[in-house]
Amino acid sequence: KKARSWETRKVRTVCSYCGVGCSLVLHIKNNEILQVTADINSAPNYGSLCVKGRYGFEFYSSKDRLKTPLVRDNINEPFREASWEEAIGLVAKRFSEIKKKYGPDSFGCLSSSRGTNEENFLAQKFTRVVMGTNNMDNCARVCHAPSVTGLRAALGSGAATNSLADIEGAEVLIVSGSNTTEAHPVAALKIKKAVRQNGAKLIVIDPRKIELVKYADIHLQLRAGTNVALINGLLHVIIKEGLQNDDFIERRTENFEMLKQVVSKYTPEETEAITGVPKEDIIKAARMYAGTNKGMIIYGLGMTEHKAGSHGVMSLANLALITGNVGRPNTGINPLRGQNNVQGSCDMGALPDVYACYQRVDDPEANRKHAEAWKVKKLPEKPGLKEPQMYRAIESGDLKAMYIIGYDPAISQADINKVRASISKLEFLVVQELFMTETAKLAHVVLPTSCYFEKDGTFTNAERRVRRLHKAIPLPEGTKSDWDIICSIATAMGYPMSYNHPSEIMDEIAKLTPDMAGINYKRLEGDGLVWPVWDMNHPGTPILHKDTFKRGRGMFNDLMYTPSEELPDEEYPLLLTTGRRLYQYNNGSMSLRNPEICAINSEEFMEIHPADAAKLDIKSGEKVKVSSRRGSLEVKTELTEKSRLGSVFLSFHYPETPTNVLTGPGEDMLALTPEYKVCAVKVEKM
Ligand code: SF4
Repeated sequence: KKARSWETRKVRTVCSYCGVGCSLVLHIKNNEILQVTADINSAPNYGSLCVKGRYGFEFYSSKDRLKTPLVRDNINEPFREASWEEAIGLVAKRFSEIKKKYGPDSFGCLSSSRGTNEENFLAQKFTRVVMGTNNMDNCARVCHAPSVTGLRAALGSGAATNSLADIEGAEVLIVSGSNTTEAHPVAALKIKKAVRQNGAKLIVIDPRKIELVKYADIHLQLRAGTNVALINGLLHVIIKEGLQNDDFIERRTENFEMLKQVVSKYTPEETEAITGVPKEDIIKAARMYAGTNKGMIIYGLGMTEHKAGSHGVMSLANLALITGNVGRPNTGINPLRGQNNVQGSCDMGALPDVYACYQRVDDPEANRKHAEAWKVKKLPEKPGLKEPQMYRAIESGDLKAMYIIGYDPAISQADINKVRASISKLEFLVVQELFMTETAKLAHVVLPTSCYFEKDGTFTNAERRVRRLHKAIPLPEGTKSDWDIICSIATAMGYPMSYNHPSEIMDEIAKLTPDMAGINYKRLEGDGLVWPVWDMNHPGTPILHKDTFKRGRGMFNDLMYTPSEELPDEEYPLLLTTGRRLYQYNNGSMSLRNPEICAINSEEFMEIHPADAAKLDIKSGEKVKVSSRRGSLEVKTELTEKSRLGSVFLSFHYPETPTNVLTGPGEDMLALTPEYKVCAVKVEKM
């Protein structure tokens, strides 16, 4: 729809798709969003937007929006519509009963990046204060939880070390396990600018020939799941050739001697045998990265979604530490967080072991401080369950009720047939959602909520930048904001929780969280602030670990290569790897409801190497049956040399073709993130 410029209101907000967190300008007439543009002066995108940011906004007005609470006694009955009063009363009554009958740890909460920082903060406050448990997790569990675990172990802080703007000034970029062009398009523009305009060297580490390979000096096309072996191989060459930064290692790190011992086994020949990468390329890449003091590592889910996902992150940290490429501009180790506010969800303490900004629940001082502020005698000290442990606890009869906010594990988790079976056994499930998702279909109560155009709050992007969302249009009649719903449930359960505006929640966060002590809504206008922000005069911290690491010294973790849980065999001879596509997003609940985007892409297709397809007599566009030990689906094919021989690729955006019936059973050894990047399948002609 068209309107003249002076007829529209302009509202600044933040994109709610990927973790780049682009700044948006919404053009609104009569409370209808007509167009989305970007401001050329605003970080981090400076005028650029991808197709989702620019055209993926129409979902908010979809006829499928939930507009009234839905309730039922058991999940085999149809839902019936209820008033808010009845629905909140029912939720409060059932949560209270279950807590009383089975104890606080019979409850678990999952929040997500669909929620603002303030909403995630309240979800964990509700879980800890009202329900009395630390069984709190968020959707980072299916993507970057290994980044939090790995980076905390190596550097002391589970977040990106540098800002996205630093990409453009780097001399050598390593992009590992990130199909940046499709998953984080605006970050990919910065990488291409660094290479094409500024002469940076680019090393791509990826099993697939992704689009960025066209810009790369070296493509290390490793076998999926061999990241740790490859990086140990690079470390081996650096040490053997004396290219390490001895001064930095001496002053700022620990455990170098152990690392040296472990990587001594990963000769270029041995590394080639494990990874399939030619030894000449391993040597060339090691020399290239070690030969600069402006070397920047960017990585994505291709590093984290493995059995050795946290180890993969730690090994990238080893690489940054051994060359001293950390703590300065245009360096560091930088996870591209998959979802818009997955950094914020973790920062807000929506995790089983920490309060906001990673203050441990079992630290007596942090525990006491929060109990005092929240006016309760005590808070639970024992770390709670991670999301996959919650499903196991349902199976063992220990977990009886869940509260899931803006997250769809029945489509997003691995091995979803098993996850759905577990969720179906809950005595009581409450889901807060925009649409009737696969998880909402398993609920006893569904509460209709707001999208990001309809609320005030903040998101934190992949570079730790906390930015303001501005409410642009009214809430649809019958819906409420997530923060408002959480407060209503808490209050109905006898713990009055009320705020006039999300800014008051941010003030509470600032009071309790030293890393965010200098944040309030007034200071966030404009380009926001990059945490840590220690006080009201502090300008923020775009570069972490300048003089010291949060843990004191940077830790070299000595890591051996661990093979993936399930590799191809005679029965299931192909390796399935999964990932994102440019036009769609996560479970598709938002992106598949944008007609403009769906006109280009609304259907899944499986990428298969022409030589593998020829063996199976499959032609491009033909429908095939793909099966794993856990399930099967039917999907069209696309013949492409993007995939390695012996590998196929599927995304996970289309509920009609639910890829996660196939995935599993591996999970990260430390963070329990599913091994989405490797499992064994067979493909049959239909
Ligand atoms: Fe939104 Fe990410 Fe695209 Fe930016 S790059 S417009 S944040 S989806």
